[in-house]
Amino acid sequence: MVSLSANISKVRDRIAAAAQRAGRDPSEITLVAVTKTHSAEVVRAAAEAGLRDFGENRIEEAAPKIAAVGRGDVHWHMIGHVQSRKALPVARAGFALVHSVDSLKLAGRLSRYATETGRVQPILLECNLSGEVAKEGFAAWGGPARWETLLPEWEKIRTLSGVRLHGLMTMAPIVPESEAARPVFQRLRELRDYLRAQLPLAGGNWRELSMGMTDDFEAAIAEGATIVRIGRAIFGERG
Ligand SMILES: *Cc1c(COP(=O)(O)O)cnc(C)c1O
Repeated sequence: MVSLSANISKVRDRIAAAAQRAGRDPSEITLVAVTKTHSAEVVRAAAEAGLRDFGENRIEEAAPKIAAVGRGDVHWHMIGHVQSRKALPVARAGFALVHSVDSLKLAGRLSRYATETGRVQPILLECNLSGEVAKEGFAAWGGPARWETLLPEWEKIRTLSGVRLHGLMTMAPIVPESEAARPVFQRLRELRDYLRAQLPLAGGNWRELSMGMTDDFEAAIAEGATIVRIGRAIFGERG
């Protein structure tokens, strides 16, 4: 596990350096270690090495892992696309944050099932800012004229009592140079500022920006990421 702790400190150093370059406090950035395809044993080792936040992208894989590792002193994040027919197991899994809410229908179901289990589910809205056809997320490319058409749906999500909005999430397109992803991260921050004015939230007011992965997290931090989701830089290439 030497390489695991070494990888974690390298990633933390790079997060701190990127924050400093941007004049930001590194402590305002949460590192979510993406454990998809890795076993519960690997998650436990990562927790022993000091990680507290773990991200999974499929509920079928996440649920048994959460049962094996527990939720005691770790936070689980759902970062992958959730079909609305899987809202029940997702709401029951007790995620600290669901990053990938991309429709009113899904938000409504999560709200209902979370309420049934006596919880309020913290969520982010996943937004597609690059216009790539294959991407999940609200179709939010194109700026304020487009955003205005999405406001009514987002406003309804804000009124749901079983979910609480904390911010936004995006995936950048795969590009050869991480700097090329930067305009997408910049636009997510601009959308956040727009929502702060148009659809204010009590407490934090759209604080969280979940953006940046192994290949582009430094560019995301430069543009204001408060959560980075990192797999390969910590655990190596997935098999
Ligand atoms: C897999 C995944 C990541 C992590 O990707 P790496 O390139 O391994 O850092 C981040 N976000 C989402 C949504 C993912 O599915």
